[in-house]
Parts: sequence; C-alpha cells; structure tokens
Amino acid sequence: MDLEISTVYASAVDAINNERADIKLWMPKRVLFTADAIKEPFGQKIYERIAKLNLPVEVLKHNRITGLRGETDRETYKLAKSTLAIVNAPEGAYKLRPIPPSADFQFHLAEGCPAHCQYCYLAGSLSGPPAIRVFANLPSILYNTTRYEQLNKITSFEASCYTDPLSLEHLTGSLSETIQFFGTRSFSHLRFVTKFDAIDPLLKLDHNDRTQCRISLNAEIVSRRLEGGTPGIDKRIKALRKLALPKEQGGGGYPIGVVLAPIMPVPDWKDAYGQLFQLLSQSLNFPCDLTFELITHRFTPGSKDVLLGWYPNTSLEMDEASRAIKKNKFGGTKFVYRKDMMSSLKDFFEKEIKLKFPQSKILYWT
Ligand code: SF4
Repeated sequence: MDLEISTVYASAVDAINNERADIKLWMPKRVLFTADAIKEPFGQKIYERIAKLNLPVEVLKHNRITGLRGETDRETYKLAKSTLAIVNAPEGAYKLRPIPPSADFQFHLAEGCPAHCQYCYLAGSLSGPPAIRVFANLPSILYNTTRYEQLNKITSFEASCYTDPLSLEHLTGSLSETIQFFGTRSFSHLRFVTKFDAIDPLLKLDHNDRTQCRISLNAEIVSRRLEGGTPGIDKRIKALRKLALPKEQGGGGYPIGVVLAPIMPVPDWKDAYGQLFQLLSQSLNFPCDLTFELITHRFTPGSKDVLLGWYPNTSLEMDEASRAIKKNKFGGTKFVYRKDMMSSLKDFFEKEIKLKFPQSKILYWT
C-alpha cells in the first residue's frame, strides 16, 4: 500500500500551531556571549543590537556554553530553544563542504533555529541540545569563501544548511552583512532559504544580483500542523513577492526561489498543493527570475529518534513500513516514499509548475 497517508492530524500540536497566527520576531529568554565572541568587532555589533532590545545578556569568562540541559528531553528542548549564544565558529568552519544539489559549497552564519517544525531537518544534522549559536567571527567566515572561488566560473554558496538565517536577522544583522559581502564578489553567488517573512532589512541592500532569496513553502495543512513558530504561508508568499519586485516598485529586486519542502502526500494532496500554486501564481504576477526546488519528506532512524524526543505527540508520519529505503554513499539509511507515490507526486508538481510558471526553472526533485 503506497497511497495517501491518512495520519490522524487532529492532535495536541494543533493548539501550539494555531498560536502562530500572530508570530512576532523571536526574542530569546537568555543571551550568552562567549569570551572570544565579545572580542570580535562583529560580536560587538551584535552586542549593541541586543542591548538596544533590552534582552538579558551574560558575557561569559570562558568559551563553553552550559546550562542547556533540563531533566527531560522536552525541558532540554525548551531551554535550548530559548537561548541565543554568540560564539566563534571553530576552525573546522573554514573547511567548506560541497552541498549538492543545492550549491557548490555550504557555509554557516549560525547553527540552530527558533522555530518548531516537527520534521526539522536539523534533527538529523546537528547534535546536542538545539540551542541557537550565532557566529561572531562572520567577517572571516565570509572572507574564507573567496578561497573557494574559481576564475571565470560562478561558485555558489548555501547559507541555510544549519539555520534559518532570516529568523535571527533582527538580533544579529548577519544575513545583511553576508548579502552585502557577496554583492562585491564577481564569481560567487549566495543562496539562502527561509520560512520567515521579516524581509524589510534586506530590501535596500546592494546585492548586485549575487544573492538568490528562496522561501520555503508547503500546503497550508502541512504548514499549519507541523511548522510551529513560523509565519503563515500567505505571509511568506507576500514576502517572496516583495523580495522579487523591482527596487523602483519598493521591492528588493532579488532573484528568487521557492523550496517546496517537505512535500507530503497528505489527504487530498493534489487540492492542497494545487491551492498553494494558485496563491503563488496570483502573487508572482510579474516577470521574475524564479526557480523551484522540490524535496519530498524523508527521515533517518537517527532523525526520527531526535524528533520524537522533541515532539512526542507529533502527528508527523514516520512509518518505516510504508516507506522505501534509500542508502547514501556512506551506507546510511533514509526512508523515502515508495516509487509509485514518488512518480505521482513528481508528475503532479512538474506539470503544475510548467503550467503556472512556464518561465521558471525546476532545479531538482528529490
Ligand atoms: S524553519 Fe527550518 S531550521 Fe527552523 S525549525 Fe523549521 S525546518 Fe528546522
């Protein structure tokens, strides 16, 4: 059986997610600066921003972040997710890794994210309590990317593998700093993706067409049930429109992208995703440089364990028996949808995009 997932969606998580109708900018309950981070000029800039917001700040005498563990997984999750730590990225951050099919290389402005998506992909990639760590040595992290540039060929850099960079922008300014840096490069492109909508600080930046801003979207039912702490789909679509509108019309004039992820065959999925495409095409009713990335839901044994620790009452379907197994090149196991379901989904999404956004490009399906 490889058809619609008839998961019981009415659950306690609805109560949490219904609160998001009025998502405001995230404010941590605790802000920590490590001894090294506060010495960095960019760390100082973050300190000034945070001080203006009257948030409780502790400047540590050492570089260790402690006090993130509660008595249960759930308590640890809550403590960590309400803590913002400003730290220096370790030496390893200067050795960039490829990140196909998204970009040539990944680099990081921060690790962790204040939202509460019950399928969060960070569960499989970051270890330990999910605190939010922002890097004070950002200028040297940015400069380091130039070592990976190639002459006469564009090298792309992805900045959202370990965080949602826009979710923290009001506290750090890191994304603006990064966009402006890439605006000065001739052979590098920056890509980032977000589920947040506070894009105003990005609109006036000199990006020089070197940054592609992508917004992560999903069917309303998936987003409402599983993406706690994020702005609604309608708000994200408005933000995407504004990012793409020409500067003379009050927009950011950015190349844009839509990341549809994680695609899930929820009940009536064709209608649910059809409505999303409808909203999107009404909003992007002007010529724009647009790409799509299409990512179906998957999980690993490790990410499932972590997610069930964080969200024990989740309605997210993670039933190994209804999935196909995919091995990666290191022998790791992922559970993906079965072949016939994958084909129906792929066929539907490709046809809709071709019909509604004939000028756009699909970068990949996975
Ligand atoms: S917005 Fe992205 S990084 Fe943040 S919780 Fe959701 S899936 Fe995870």
